[in-house]
Amino acid sequence: MVVLISRIIMVLLILLGVRLLARVLAPLFAPRGARLETRARRPARAMQRGEMLRDPVCGTWVDQRIAVTASCDGRTVHFCSAACRDRYLAEPPS
Ligand SMILES: [Zn+2]
Repeated sequence: MVVLISRIIMVLLILLGVRLLARVLAPLFAPRGARLETRARRPARAMQRGEMLRDPVCGTWVDQRIAVTASCDGRTVHFCSAACRDRYLAEPPS
């Protein structure tokens, strides 16, 4: 009986170890992990190309091509929505 229990525990530990190992190695091999990594890096990379801009009101990253814009002090400011633009124009940062 004791032998049986210890064997069950051993098998469970091995399964746990394999799962942990798979989780650690997944980003190196699995396409799912690779995609997650790409998605996480995308804002920074796009920002370097000047395509993603930060909405100064709510902090959302917006695509420059679809952003709502407003001219303020001679420069163009980008927003995620007209609501954010209106809020910004009502109270521009000093
Ligand atoms: Zn916004």
